[in-house]
Amino acid sequence: MPAAAWARPRSRAGRLYSGPLPLSGELGHTPVLGNNRLCGCGATGCIETLISRKGLIASAQEHLQEPVSWPRLLNLLAESSSILRG
Ligand SMILES: [Zn+2]
Repeated sequence: MPAAAWARPRSRAGRLYSGPLPLSGELGHTPVLGNNRLCGCGATGCIETLISRKGLIASAQEHLQEPVSWPRLLNLLAESSSILRG
């Protein structure tokens, strides 16, 4: 998922979405304890660095200890999913 999807303002019916908390547009920059990755916003530990496409690739590369492309990661996930389903 592109990082921008987690940081851009949300709209509903052509109007800027406003929820009960002032957090609706900045979920991606919510800090996660134990996450030391540097985010594009300049902070450290934002959830975006874990759940964005770039973050998922980084996690796979850390786990596999080798370069991983997005298509390869999707294939690995599909294989894992079919193995888990039996
Ligand atoms: Zn951030």
